[in-house]
Amino acid sequence: MTRTLTTSALRMDAVTKTYGAGESAVTALREVSIGLDRGTFTAVMGPSGSGKSTFLHCAAGLDQPTSGSVLLGDVELAGMGEAALTAVRRERVGFVFQAYNLMSALTVAENVALVPRLSGHDVDRAWLHELLDRVGMRDRADRRPAQLSGGQQQRVAIARALVNRPEVVMADEPTGALDTRTGRQVLELFGALVAELGQTVLMVTHDPVAASYADSVVFLADGRIAGRLHHPTAARVSERMAHLGEV
Ligand code: ADP
Repeated sequence: MTRTLTTSALRMDAVTKTYGAGESAVTALREVSIGLDRGTFTAVMGPSGSGKSTFLHCAAGLDQPTSGSVLLGDVELAGMGEAALTAVRRERVGFVFQAYNLMSALTVAENVALVPRLSGHDVDRAWLHELLDRVGMRDRADRRPAQLSGGQQQRVAIARALVNRPEVVMADEPTGALDTRTGRQVLELFGALVAELGQTVLMVTHDPVAASYADSVVFLADGRIAGRLHHPTAARVSERMAHLGEV
């Protein structure tokens, strides 16, 4: 494992990802270079097929780039074997999905504590309680997912993503299954975690309003970074997306 000093939570340099070979080869990312400062909230947007999922997967160590470098904190992911990548994902990345993906047989508190348990660690009780407080779920710590609303389940998923104090929380359409008001509460929660805990969040979304909660928006088109908008508003995001060919 190569270690390099860095102040970024995530740094990608000239990341290219090609699926398949020969005539059927598809290049999903082309020479993508980007840095995410610690304690920032970044949204990724782009038309369908522009490489958003591939970008998130390469950043999270779910997929290896064909060439280029991915530094998560001070750890180089490129060239790592699957076992090492699995350990990196557990210890350094938090995941939040559209579909929550909680374990139905476990309570709220058990769901949050599960990932460290899988690595053989008990969660510090004070940290578990602080996380449940922050996401507004402390009084429901003993409930099971089926007894919670979608928004509450997503709050538990966010607490679970934070439990290992990850370098980056990767969120894939985290508000996609929520109604507008609940979705906004979840986005405000991400904003608060970034501002108050210094957490770094990277979120893929289709929704310009969701993207406007981020500190900056990275636009992808045809596997390339087509621009970055700081202090986005929903209107400016929509306008950029229109120029990328999205309605
Ligand atoms: P987005 O998330 O923006 O819709 P993706 O990253 O899923 O884009 O896909 C980018 C391109 O790579 C698309 O052309 C897609 O068909 C292709 N692609 C993605 N994953 C694979 C894969 N596992 N095998 C082959 N092609 C893939």
